[in-house]
Parts: sequence; structure tokens; C-alpha cells
Amino acid sequence: MIPVTKPFLPPQQIYQNYLSGIWNRQWLTNMGPLASQLEMEIKQHLQLKHILFVTNGTVALQMAIKALDLKGEIITTPFSFVATTSSIVWEGCIPVFVDIDAESLNIDATKIEAAITDNTTAILATHVYGNPCDVETIDRIAKKHGLKVIYDAAHAFGVEINGKSIFEYGDISTCSLHATKLYHSVEGGFVVTQNADLLKKLASIRNFGISGFDTFAELGLNGKNSELHAAMGLSNLKYIEDIIKKRQALTQRYDDKLTSLKAYRPKWHKGSENKGAYYPLVFDSEELMLRIMDRLKNNEIGTRRYFYPSLASALPYLAPKALEITDEVSKKVLCLPLYYDLSFEEVDMVCRLILRVQNN
Ligand SMILES: *Cc1c(COP(=O)(O)O)cnc(C)c1O
Repeated sequence: MIPVTKPFLPPQQIYQNYLSGIWNRQWLTNMGPLASQLEMEIKQHLQLKHILFVTNGTVALQMAIKALDLKGEIITTPFSFVATTSSIVWEGCIPVFVDIDAESLNIDATKIEAAITDNTTAILATHVYGNPCDVETIDRIAKKHGLKVIYDAAHAFGVEINGKSIFEYGDISTCSLHATKLYHSVEGGFVVTQNADLLKKLASIRNFGISGFDTFAELGLNGKNSELHAAMGLSNLKYIEDIIKKRQALTQRYDDKLTSLKAYRPKWHKGSENKGAYYPLVFDSEELMLRIMDRLKNNEIGTRRYFYPSLASALPYLAPKALEITDEVSKKVLCLPLYYDLSFEEVDMVCRLILRVQNN
């Protein structure tokens, strides 16, 4: 069986060594030494000034919206994981969907201004599959209209634009360290901001808004993460270069084998490198995509319709909204298996099956 994804696991001994330290200290959570060490090592690895390790990527988004004190409407993408939208609604704001660009599959920055109203307070965009949004245009529009910007960078660990970390963009960027992501701590996430006041506020929100022994500064939640999760994050970080290299090589293998396929890959940002977080294909037709998905399934090969259906039409708590490009792309997109343990022979087999379906 070939699943669509499989979590990376470090050699057990590496994790055990961290566990021994945890047993000695008997400090399990609440910003412990391993959580602090993980923050330091991620900061160093990504060349960032500040990060906060949190419970997961969804809480990271909720904390970002709360810390920026957003109200009213937030312009966002319908082509993402449900947490991008649900976080907006969870924080009492209204998501306003703007269609995606058919080539990059990210929010179409040229369509954002038309969606701005007197109630708009922010833009929340996802770097889908780790492919950077048009951050220059988004930042320019945000400045012009006095809007905040949050980037959901859940897919973008290690991604840079012209050598600068993707997490430096926007007022706040968030990441997920969930087990299905390229780099993970089982469950986990982090928030990034360049603004020292905002960082303080986020740190306070992460810890219930507690400001002193018996004082509270603001409304907070429990966004802390544990020493056991930090230990997994620290263990996996030792292998991150290998992980990315392998995923990029597998991506190249798919590209080479599937040149005759009636499908396209997202057009990548010019200043950025694909780290191989996912392997998405947008097929010429939904019919071809479904036939291929079915054949792979019959051969015990997993795929995922990431992202289908459009968030603008799928959520029972929102009025459905049709969006031309998103509706079209989400119907025809399919992600193929991609993970560290996948072999080149397995990729070849998947590609042979796919091409056989197309050419029959
Ligand atoms: C995974 C993911 C999230 C949520 O992260 P969790 O750590 O699972 O809570 C948010 N946004 C996107 C785009 C994701 O892929």
C-alpha cells in the first residue's frame, strides 16, 4: 500500500534521549526547556527574530486574528484547508472569499481591491502547497487601505522569497507542525511576527492572558505545547535537509515521468524554490482525474483531493458562493503520494498506472 502521505519518524534513540531529559526534569509542559530550545533552533534554522511554539496551526491562526484585534470582514482564499476559514468564523469575523489565480492557485491579488468594503479589516491568505502568494501586491494593497495581513504558511516551512524567509511577510505568519506536514512535531505550530509588541501580546494570549501571579491582561487561551511534542520537533529538525532533498528529488521524478500527462502543476513564484510539501496536479478534466484516482485506489495507492470542495461553497455555516476559477480547479486537482519514505520505484509505478489510464 502507498498512502498519500506518511509522517517522518526520527530514529527512536534520538527521541528517547530527549525523553530521558524530560523524565529527569519532570517538567512536561508550560514553556519548558525543550519548547524554548525548539523555538531557538527553528529561529536559527529559518533566520527569524521571533517565533512562538503553539499547540497547532489552527490555534496559531486564531491567536493571530485575536492579537490583531480583527473585527468585521477578512478577505481570504477559498482554496485552502478548512482551518483557514473556520478560524476567521471562530473569532467572530466574516470571511470574504476572493477567487484564486488559475496558475499559482493562490488568492488572485488583482481581485482583492474589488472585495474591500468599509468593514474590511484584514487579508488572510494561504501560501498553497508552499508556493508564495504575490506578497508584494498584497502588502501594497494592505498598506493603501490600512488592512492587516496574516499569512497561513502551514505548507511553507523552509520556504524563502529571494533568500528571505516567507515567515517575515505580513503582520503575522503562522505555521502548522502537524504530522502530515513536511516538518512536524506530531501536533504543533508556531506564530511569527516582526513586531515586538505584537509578539508580547501573542505570548500573553498563548498563556490564558495571565500577566502576573494573580493578574490578567487580556482574553487568552491555552496555546502552549508540551515537552514531548517539542522533543519530536527537535528530533525531526536534525533531518530537515534530508527530508526536503528527498521530497524535491521525488517531485522531480514525477515531473520527468509525467511530461505527457494532460494536467498542469501550479506555476511557482519566481523567487522561490518548491520544497516538495505536496505533489498537486490540475487535470484537464474532472472525468480524467476521477478515473485516475479510482485506478490508483484499486491498486492501493492513496491520493487526496486537496483542496476540494471550494471552502466558499462547502461549509454549512456559510452561505455558498460560486467562484469561477476555484470551482473549476478544485474539481480537477489531485495530490499524489509524497513523503520521505516513498521510493523512486514506487513513483515510477504510480506514473505508469496514471499514464495507462490516460492513454486507454
Ligand atoms: C494543516 C493546515 C492548517 C491547520 O494546522 P493544524 O496544525 O492541523 O491545526 C491550517 N491551514 C492550512 C493551509 C493547513 O494545511
